[in-house]
Formats: sequence, C-alpha cells, structure tokens
Amino acid sequence: MGKFELITLPYAADALQPVISPETIAFHHGKHLQAYVNNLNNMIAGTKFEGMTLVDIVKQSDGGVFNNAGQILNHNLYFEALQAPQDDNQPTGKIATAIAEQFGSFADFKQQFQQQGASLFGSGWVWLSENTDGRLVISQEANAQNPVTKGLVPLLTFDVWEHAYYVDYRNRRPDYLSAMWSIVNWNVVNQRMK
Ligand code: MN
Repeated sequence: MGKFELITLPYAADALQPVISPETIAFHHGKHLQAYVNNLNNMIAGTKFEGMTLVDIVKQSDGGVFNNAGQILNHNLYFEALQAPQDDNQPTGKIATAIAEQFGSFADFKQQFQQQGASLFGSGWVWLSENTDGRLVISQEANAQNPVTKGLVPLLTFDVWEHAYYVDYRNRRPDYLSAMWSIVNWNVVNQRMK
C-alpha cells in the first residue's frame, strides 16, 4: 500500500556520465533510496505520520522514522536538481544574482561549498539554503538531517555519504564535489527560491 514512492529520475541512468556512473545511479537510486522508501512506508503504517508530507514528517519525527523520511527528502532534492553535464555550467537568474551579491563570485561560492562538503566528518550532506530574510546559507548536515528543521528552504545539496561517490571516485570526496558543478540544474534551484 506504500504511501511514498521512489521518485522517477528526470534523466536516463547513464545521462550523468562521466560525473556519476550508471552503476552509482543503479545502487544509489535503485537500492539505497528504494530501501528508505520501503522502510518509511513500513514504519508509518497505522501511525500519526501516515498522510503527512515528507517535510512535515521530517519536522515532527525522530529515530527511525526521521532517518528514513529525511533520507527520502534529501535524495529527492539531490537527484531532482541534477542534469546531463553542461559545458561551463553557471548559475542563472535569481540564484546567480544572490550568489554574486553574497559570495562575491561563483568561484568563491563553489570553494566555500566544496570546503564544507569535504570537511564534513562521516556521512551527511552539504546544503545551500535560503533563510527567512532571503539570504543564502551554506550548511553541513549530518546523516539524515535537512535544513528544513532549522526553518531554512533547501535549494541545492551534494550527498557526501560514501555511497554517493565511492564507486566512481573511491575515497576522493573532493574530486566528486568539484565534478558535480557540471551537472547542477540551476533552473530547478531557481524554482526552489522564494
Ligand atoms: Mn545518498
């Protein structure tokens, strides 16, 4: 009966090559994310969480329900903001303006974002979010955490759990982070801004 379903990726499994291989997509989307979906559906059956949105579950739960709901929300935000590699892929529109105003340049923003991703200890996520004043915030979130629990609007995330990069980059997390910029879909990031 499962309320939540595995998202369909808005691109083919081989579309993100060479940044992310089809093998990584097969495991990351097809196995890891599917398991979080199955786990959450099993855990919330017959509970107060049945019928809630993912964001509301993340804001109101803890323990296993939080971990699985958080990981579904995180992965949906991750996978849905990617696209096939683009030459000289740059932010556009509102997000380009906001990055330039707050970070000085896209290069400076990338450096800070990658530094936060590379220095996160263990498993987690590096995020770009928008606060209630419309300011951009870069944050590290451990394990299944998501910036919505801090009142932020998540705009972009790079997954730094090892399963996100180990097949393609082995232990070279910084190389994965720097390669990701060519597959960010900035139109999706703009749509997430308030
Ligand atoms: Mn992941």
